[in-house]
Amino acid sequence: MPSLTIHRNDTVQVLTGADRGKQGRVLRVFPDNATVLVEHVRVVKKTVSSKTGRRTKGGIAEQESPIDVSNVALVCPNCGPARVGFKIDGDMRVRVCKKCGQTMPTKK
Ligand SMILES: [Zn+2]
Repeated sequence: MPSLTIHRNDTVQVLTGADRGKQGRVLRVFPDNATVLVEHVRVVKKTVSSKTGRRTKGGIAEQESPIDVSNVALVCPNCGPARVGFKIDGDMRVRVCKKCGQTMPTKK
């Protein structure tokens, strides 16, 4: 499985599309098709039917939809959206900002 440079709980900035420039937290990563779900990005309104048998009234629910990882950039704490490289630290492969060399550990 190809490892993505974007991980869950990363802060990313959207590079293209209607949400260009928005930053958000990565909610989910889908390695199979290299897409990520980013909080408050590419939100689609879904009509919620009241016919589902639940007691909730019908209405509009907002939900994020996945965006291609190539359309987002990891946000470096020093320089903002940045390209990511890797370095070997002990036996760990860690992500580093290509601009300033800041390591960007995966948040749990
Ligand atoms: Zn940086």
